[in-house]
Amino acid sequence: MAGACRVLVGVISDIHANLVALEAVVEAMGSVDAIWVTGDSVGYGPRPNECVRLLQSLPTLLIAGNHEWATTGKLSTEAFNPLAAAAAVWTAATLEPGIAEFLRGLPERVDQDDMTLVHGSPRDPIWEYVLDTGVAETSFRYFSTRLCLFGHTHVPSYFRLGGRRLPGLRRVDGERVEDGRALDLSDPSVRWMLNAGSVGQPRDDDPRASYMLLDLGGLTAVWHRVEYDIATTQRQMREAGLPARLIERLEAGW
Ligand code: ZN
Repeated sequence: MAGACRVLVGVISDIHANLVALEAVVEAMGSVDAIWVTGDSVGYGPRPNECVRLLQSLPTLLIAGNHEWATTGKLSTEAFNPLAAAAAVWTAATLEPGIAEFLRGLPERVDQDDMTLVHGSPRDPIWEYVLDTGVAETSFRYFSTRLCLFGHTHVPSYFRLGGRRLPGLRRVDGERVEDGRALDLSDPSVRWMLNAGSVGQPRDDDPRASYMLLDLGGLTAVWHRVEYDIATTQRQMREAGLPARLIERLEAGW
């Protein structure tokens, strides 16, 4: 996988049926060799079928999140909060049979080359949130590749394990990342967990859609944010009768 040539992968997550945001991200990413999607392509948003069809038309690798399972009957919505459950019921009723079948067949986890893809965490790919270094430290024991890509938190962030550290520092550290942040992943003694953030429902107080570009040749990761027409997605959600709180949160990014 590594080598002199540039292999550019667009990493996206938590699109949540926000087609306007997805189209903005695809355009902003430009020419990439592949797009890897770490789950929750549907749920919450107004255009689930259209989002999946767009992803199917691109060189994507998709895995499942809790919303894929909940909207296709593989997971009860009882564990969802009421707003998420209401959106899941709407999504389940809206999904075309062929699209639902496609989502139902997605893997929960992919290990390929030196990369692991999950939605939540490598310990619990569907449900667990990796939001702090404690959970991240445990997570590193549940995959053996050097890099793990995850989503679910809707917060662009990274955790790392290993490498040269000053005495007294934790074995695992990590942080949220802003637009334009770049990481050098080339040190073979360091392992990484990388979260691209959310395309369709960011939760880090920045309403812009989030994505990450991963250069597998030079081994770098760069996070990006892109503005999209939030009002159009909100109008589509109102027309669909989706809960008001889910509509409002998009413009604030929570
Ligand atoms: Zn999500």
